[in-house]
Amino acid sequence: MNRRYRRTIIAGNWKMNKTPAESKILIEELKPIIAKAKWCETVLCVPFVDIPIAVRLLKDTRVAVGAQNLHQNESGAFTGEVSGAMLKNAGCKYVIIGHSERRQYFGETDALVNAKAHTALNAGLRPIICVGESLEQREMGLTMDLVSLQVKAALANVTVEQLRKVVFAYEPIWAIGTGKTATSEQAAEVCEHIRTVIRKMYGARAARSVTIQYGGSMNAENASELLAQQDVDGGLIGGASLKAKDFIAIVNAANQ
Ligand code: PEP
Repeated sequence: MNRRYRRTIIAGNWKMNKTPAESKILIEELKPIIAKAKWCETVLCVPFVDIPIAVRLLKDTRVAVGAQNLHQNESGAFTGEVSGAMLKNAGCKYVIIGHSERRQYFGETDALVNAKAHTALNAGLRPIICVGESLEQREMGLTMDLVSLQVKAALANVTVEQLRKVVFAYEPIWAIGTGKTATSEQAAEVCEHIRTVIRKMYGARAARSVTIQYGGSMNAENASELLAQQDVDGGLIGGASLKAKDFIAIVNAANQ
């Protein structure tokens, strides 16, 4: 973290978990503690159907609500899809884009991630853009090149003003939901590399303000060490965001 230049953001990615009734219970457990966090911003990225209740329960708190996906078009005949304007109007501030599960199971390409980033920004949402390598790619020594390509593609035609709204999440695929966390050195190395790529595209001043999260089995035990790294400005948290005690511990670690 480097609070002098950028905001620390802890975001929970609930994935396809929690009905509206269940989400109410979890938010009521989280709210009294996470709403008090002063030194980091907290975000709950909930399933679409949970957005109304999350927005209602978190109204007038510092906790923001996010979605986990949006459609790249603004509106139209796309049965079953949700637009940026709908999310914004429902009260979302953030939207996750290019999560590895969407890249893997829904065929999302770098070009689509870029299109969705533009749609989100045009709708007034802050995209949390996920990048990261598979185990095979890491073992082949491709991590840095791959992440560079993902970052550059995601930011194609994004202006320096728009960049201020963009958050990146470095999520090594081999660490997501596996219990295998990247070491703090590995997380730091790739997050620093992402900032270097952004610096080359937009200059030092713009790059130092971008929040770059780490995601991949972050939990109550490893959060402090990961967040102590200069270029790790927060976390995108899956499994541990579904357990109030664990998510609170991560928020507390970021709030030190
Ligand atoms: C994620 O889904 O973005 C994630 C990091 O999951 P987990 O924390 O469960 O590895």
